[in-house]
Amino acid sequence: MAKLYFKYGTMDASKSADLLMTAHKYENQGKNIVCLRSNLDTRTEDGFIESRALTYKHKCFCFNKDTNLYDFIKNQNDQKINCILIDEAQFLTKKQVMELTEIVDFLKIPVICYGLKNSYIKGELFEGSKALLYFADSIQEIKSVCHFCDKKATMNLRIKNGKPILQSDTGNTVVIGDTQEGEDYFISTCRKHYFNPEIKK
Ligand SMILES: [Zn+2]
Repeated sequence: MAKLYFKYGTMDASKSADLLMTAHKYENQGKNIVCLRSNLDTRTEDGFIESRALTYKHKCFCFNKDTNLYDFIKNQNDQKINCILIDEAQFLTKKQVMELTEIVDFLKIPVICYGLKNSYIKGELFEGSKALLYFADSIQEIKSVCHFCDKKATMNLRIKNGKPILQSDTGNTVVIGDTQEGEDYFISTCRKHYFNPEIKK
């Protein structure tokens, strides 16, 4: 039975690396996969999924908020699709998550989504993640460790010009940063250090 999977983690939890390794395993067995990624992510070369942890990268189709994912997959009728892998799944709309459930239930293709659970803004759920938590058949956390302590990281903290940004009502949840240090970057933290980051003010 095909299933809808949601694998979530913080920004440096190696989600894209997990996706790429899964893609590699399917293709090693001669199976056909389709990789998709939200085009809101400007960090990577257009049309590729890549990871800071791996040198291997994979071609992907980029989608936006208006793409009907069910129609898109249904029109890929050149050969049987064994699995669909989606990166940056937090940027899916609720409607697109429902389209994924139809791909699983009616086209009988497994769909594995990788994404963040909550945004840096208030630590609240992204639209895509919220819908996936409701409707996925399988939910798995990809774990990482807090930047400041040895607890599990559950939050994404944005650092801009050396200052943490959180609890802002004006922020934009689709801003993409890099986890490398720079002017504007993200770190993964536990809840305590999200609200109390040990950064010199
Ligand atoms: Zn911590």
